[in-house]
Amino acid sequence: MRDNLFSRFRALFSVDRDNAKLLNAQYVALSRQLPVMYVILLVNTIALAFTHVHLAPRWLAVYLPALLTGVGSLRAMLWWRKRGVPAHPDAILQTLTRTNRLAVFLAFGFTAWALALYPYGDAYSRSHIAFYMAITVIACIFCMMHLRSAALITTAVVNIAFIGFFVSTGTYVYMAMAVNVLLVSAAMIWVLQDHYKDFTRLVNIQAHTEKLSADNERLANQDSLTGLPNRRQFFALLDDHLASASEEQSRFAVGLIDLDGFKPVNDLYGHSVGDKLLFQVGQRLMGYESDGLHMARLGGDEFGLLKKDASQDVLAALGNDIQTLLQEPFSIGDIQVSISASLGFVIYPDMASDATQAYEFADYALYQSKREGPGSICQFSAAHYLDLNRDIRTEQGLRKADVAQEFSVVYQPILDIRSGNTVAFEALARWTSPQLGPVAPGQFIPVAERLGLINRLTVPLLRKALAGAMAWPHDVRLAFNLSAHDCGSREAVRTLVRLIEESGIDPARIDFEITETAVIQDIEQAQWAVQTFRTLGCGISLDDFGTGYSSLSQLHGLALTKLKIDRSFITNIQSNPASYKIVKSLLALSADMGLECVSEGVETAQELEVLRRLGCVLVQGYLIAKPMSPEDSVAWLRDRGRVNAQARHP
Ligand code: C2E
Ligand code: CA
Ligand code: CA
Repeated sequence: MRDNLFSRFRALFSVDRDNAKLLNAQYVALSRQLPVMYVILLVNTIALAFTHVHLAPRWLAVYLPALLTGVGSLRAMLWWRKRGVPAHPDAILQTLTRTNRLAVFLAFGFTAWALALYPYGDAYSRSHIAFYMAITVIACIFCMMHLRSAALITTAVVNIAFIGFFVSTGTYVYMAMAVNVLLVSAAMIWVLQDHYKDFTRLVNIQAHTEKLSADNERLANQDSLTGLPNRRQFFALLDDHLASASEEQSRFAVGLIDLDGFKPVNDLYGHSVGDKLLFQVGQRLMGYESDGLHMARLGGDEFGLLKKDASQDVLAALGNDIQTLLQEPFSIGDIQVSISASLGFVIYPDMASDATQAYEFADYALYQSKREGPGSICQFSAAHYLDLNRDIRTEQGLRKADVAQEFSVVYQPILDIRSGNTVAFEALARWTSPQLGPVAPGQFIPVAERLGLINRLTVPLLRKALAGAMAWPHDVRLAFNLSAHDCGSREAVRTLVRLIEESGIDPARIDFEITETAVIQDIEQAQWAVQTFRTLGCGISLDDFGTGYSSLSQLHGLALTKLKIDRSFITNIQSNPASYKIVKSLLALSADMGLECVSEGVETAQELEVLRRLGCVLVQGYLIAKPMSPEDSVAWLRDRGRVNAQARHP
């Protein structure tokens, strides 16, 4: 208890060393107020010395006050120079502690000096001493309000001496003055105490508010899942990079990272595993350090990076490092998952001229790398720039296209080489835009897919394809290409089913062609779509087989009816042993799985001959026929004696 009281009493007279914010605020306030205090002290001291210069000995009236005012001026100057200059917390603590100690010394020195003059003067000069002490100490207390300890020390030293001394003179006037000073001092200490509490509270509130707004700032700029900078921060950093690169004539890269295989993990194991995976990805990215590299999470499974002083080689190396980093399997609880990363880069100012472009071009490069397959890296190039421009024109054309008017279908026959019969036609879209002229499907289909416009094309195209197929014999099938988006939602699939039912055509005559990429994007949904079409009676062909990156186990669950071997394996098969082996094994595989197999893109008699020897039955390609108009498809069949087919197959 006593200890407690003593330490509280001690605390009143010492600097609060644990509160750095408070120390700083005191320091700032004192650096403004202490010079003023010293000026008052010095002027008053000189005045008192002046009235005693002929009365007191020289050492007391001149030398001692000269020494004291000298020390005072020095301190005043030191404080004056500290105004507005920020200081280190340690230095502040040191200065304030010194001020506290000096307060004892100076209060004592000036008081002792003033009282020492008392015996030498008359009543006037004695009153001057009393007035000097009382009024100067009030000024000092006011000016030192922000350092309570120093103010209290000064009050205590001066007033104890004042009251003790003047009461001991036994003169009523001085005794009355002592009582006055005692009262005023008590009131001042009370006010001081109050003021100091308010001041401390204000400083603490301010510190708290600053911390809160710093926290808010951090939260607003941080991705809560991974702790990486978020999208907002990424774009702010991008602007900063842009400004400094323009100023310093330097370059930097904008990169986008997209995780391959994240969605299946999320779908298979649920969001909580997905979130943990993203967290671990974030940790690995954060742990990767490189000069001038900033990483951020932009949303979903997309991450962004900014790299200063980037060159193509630097980016290639960086991309490889990031891929290696993310290829290591992740353990989430007892689950082990493997993913890979696709990356797209663009260098400013070589390829992009502002922030929006830099981001868009990096996004385009990422899109290109995704098209190349999982785990690819792509740097935005001049060729991409041309492609992108063409894509933009295509996009504009597509958005305002009158689909029924501008789009049509052509048909390319699929032949059974044993009988020479045309067993099917594949419908291929054609677009003649009023602005752009004829646009190849290889150009507009990917753009429409990317923009989510493909559904708008598929329905009218299928309607046209079905109408054309009505003119053929019933045993000639129709193959129709579907995009990922066409199978991507139940609503889209149901629309197609309705269309077939309304057309009156036998659904068993239709084969839908889908690619591996379409399947991989959402296996469960693809499975549902395939099953729905199969239930209706349609066949399902896996298009461009061999070019994708899916594992057979992933495709196993799909109720496929056909495989279409991609043209790249057929071209020059007679002289390319690798292609030969692949086609041979794909044919064996399809036979094993009980699936029919179509070889696409047969252009030469040699290719056809090799395929025939390998036991391939169904072929398609320019050698047989190029895609043809609906009328030509009817003529094609008629020329091959197939007009009466319906009669043969009632
Ligand atoms: P695909 O489904 O692989 O279609 C075969 C493509 O190869 C067609 O190109 C066809 O004209 C071409 N082709 C056929 N035989 C040969 C040959 O012997 N040599 C060469 N060099 N090419 C041959 P097309 O019509 O330009 O279509 C390109 C791609 O666009 C198609 O590839 C398909 O993926 C897509 N596509 C076309 N129409 C549609 C459609 O209506 N809907 C969707 N979703 N995609 C379509
Ligand atoms: Ca196809
Ligand atoms: Ca194909």
